[in-house]
Amino acid sequence: MNLRVEVAVAAPLWRSLSYRVAPELAPLIKPLTRLLVPLRGKDRLGFALGPAEPGDPEGLKPISDVLDEAGEPQLIPPSLLNFFSRAAAYYQAPLGQTLAWSLPAGLGGESAGAVKAPGRAQVAWAAWRQGPPEGAPRPGTQAAALLEHLHEQGPLALDSLRERFPRVLALARKLEAGGWLSLTHRPVVKDLTGRPILPEPEPAAYTEEQQAALERLLPAISAHKFEPFLLYGVTGSGKTEMYVAACRAAMAAGRQALVLAPEIGLCLRLEGLLKDRFGDDKVAVLHSGLSPAVRRGQWLAIARGQAPLVVGARSAVFAPLERLGVICLDEEQDESYKQNDRLHYQARDLALLRGQEQDCPVLLGTATPAVTTYWRAAQGKLTRLTLSKRVKNAVLPVMEVVDLRSAGRLGGGFLSVQLKQALEQNVAEGRQAILFLNRRGFAPALICPACGRRVGCPACSVSLTLHKEQNALVCHTCGHHQPIPAACPACGQSEAELKPLGLGTEQVEATLAELFPAMRLGRLDRDAAANPTQLRKVLGAVAKRELDVIVGTQMITKGHHLPGIGLVGILLADQALGLPDFRAAERAYTLITQAAGRAGREGEAGRVIVQTYDPAHHALRAALAHDPALFYEPELEERQALGYPPFARLVSLRLEGASETATAAAAQNLARALERAKHKLEPRARILGPAPAPIARIQSRWRWLILIKSPGAGVAASILRLARHQAGPPPAGVRLVVDVDPLNL
Ligand code: ADP
Ligand code: ZN
Repeated sequence: MNLRVEVAVAAPLWRSLSYRVAPELAPLIKPLTRLLVPLRGKDRLGFALGPAEPGDPEGLKPISDVLDEAGEPQLIPPSLLNFFSRAAAYYQAPLGQTLAWSLPAGLGGESAGAVKAPGRAQVAWAAWRQGPPEGAPRPGTQAAALLEHLHEQGPLALDSLRERFPRVLALARKLEAGGWLSLTHRPVVKDLTGRPILPEPEPAAYTEEQQAALERLLPAISAHKFEPFLLYGVTGSGKTEMYVAACRAAMAAGRQALVLAPEIGLCLRLEGLLKDRFGDDKVAVLHSGLSPAVRRGQWLAIARGQAPLVVGARSAVFAPLERLGVICLDEEQDESYKQNDRLHYQARDLALLRGQEQDCPVLLGTATPAVTTYWRAAQGKLTRLTLSKRVKNAVLPVMEVVDLRSAGRLGGGFLSVQLKQALEQNVAEGRQAILFLNRRGFAPALICPACGRRVGCPACSVSLTLHKEQNALVCHTCGHHQPIPAACPACGQSEAELKPLGLGTEQVEATLAELFPAMRLGRLDRDAAANPTQLRKVLGAVAKRELDVIVGTQMITKGHHLPGIGLVGILLADQALGLPDFRAAERAYTLITQAAGRAGREGEAGRVIVQTYDPAHHALRAALAHDPALFYEPELEERQALGYPPFARLVSLRLEGASETATAAAAQNLARALERAKHKLEPRARILGPAPAPIARIQSRWRWLILIKSPGAGVAASILRLARHQAGPPPAGVRLVVDVDPLNL
């Protein structure tokens, strides 16, 4: 019999290709089986789009191999074909490439290695035990108090008792010898600083709001139906327990659960928690903190159905789960869910698509919903579950604004008197402070006082950032490094000394060191924590309270659990607002609200001081007042007036090439084709550009942008498809990058 199979080849091809199948290979082929197929003289990875079927193989090349082994589960389950097809179509990427890119490195072609589990740590746990009376400690002693505590609370990690019982280890050993206590070792997950994450105990009861949320959520999980939820809960309101309950319900229904977090630190916390509640063997993890071999092993374990719970970052949205019962996605507004190379996908949106395809609820958790999510919930397209109170009755931080136009300032201008006093007071009280500035380096430019020009990157159209510690100028766009020139490269004037312009974290730290010689200062940005070891060192020093003040970029406002923080200072809120991007206000609102969530999480109230030139801005006023409506309502009005998401869909098209004229010409050609396609398909759509990108050249490649603004995503896709067809592929040397729902314009 003659057999053929349709294959989505992992190559920039818009159509599937047909190959001949030898009869003995045919039984191995199902939808999404990985194959090796010849293309232009080379074997390439491909994915079957269905089983082999009878057909005329005349002129067809035979497939070279079947990669998924007989008797082993496929690396991508057959039932996900529709999900991947829709994802590829939505993001305007070839299906074969989309499938290949979804796999962890190393699983694309060669067959997989052995299953490896991620690393674990062991910690000691103490449990109360009824012992012989002669071994009982005398009442009133520390030992007796410890026993009483364990009797009330149940088994606890020794590390968690150290604050209360400084000599807990010695006490526990003595009690164990006397028969009144048992010590066991339990494996736990380590955090980024290498310290064990002590799992939060199971709450004795849910709060009323949690209970109400579960009454809506759990029936949806048992019903196996798609329903999107927005879990809108302030920081510390107990959202994580809702994910745990959702996982439990999915497993009880014989299904699996996927829990996504935007970054590794949060993944580790969730991993530790779920392993503690459900057992080590139930949880698999997928994130970039794992070695490639471990990632492959975890992927295989999931594909084999060995772990019903999967915790992971963005790319885990593709995890090979066949019987998905719920997807939980924490910090849904986080921009890390967007991937900015290869397939430009947004994991939150793909999670919703996956929920539709696999008939399961999707729970999006956040304290600061993305504007689009907020609007969709307001429209009734998401079911809103609200947690308005912090569980432990922790008070919200006190928010203060400093108007930089009128405030007294020192330290070259970046430190208001109010913030300076707050810093001193905070340190005197033995608490830690975070100062946030979203720019690393010493100064973002070096300017020549003679000619007024800045020293620029030779390969990009941006200024070079001064890094005094490295004694170098660095390009933050391409990474180019060079020594600091003695004379201006533009005018050659060596008498006029080049002057640093603007402020970076390095300069803030240096100036603070002069102002406050007694304070212990640290820095957390991509220079101070260039690798995981350094990051671990900085976070470890914060956790051990070896630092009083940490100056940091975005890296510091994210996920890390830093209980000692009493003060958060935002040095220049306008920096976020000033971005030439319609999302600037959203970023500022999220940043300030999230930063506030870092202040005073445990016990005492924290304090947040926001320095700004624009105190009347709605994003600031809302964050300062803890009143979301003050932000979302005017923001939505503005977006509607200007025709931005959620009221329009955007597709950004970027043409890149080494030749400026060829790139510009290709952009103009595509833009003309887009105009024609738009007139034919949807006159209400708008084609903006072509125009040089805000950074017109990166790594010696010129960049031109075109933006499609359209009423719906489907229309934008059709316009682009037609225009691409008519304009033809860009000329050799020019590349087209398509970004659907771009985050950065
Ligand atoms: P969020 O994710 O909303 O910021 P968390 O889930 O981290 O908040 O919860 C904050 C703290 O409250 C955690 O220490 C958690 O263990 C605890 N917690 C959650 N729910 C309850 C509850 N019902 N009773 C007591 N403590 C709870
Ligand atoms: Zn550069």
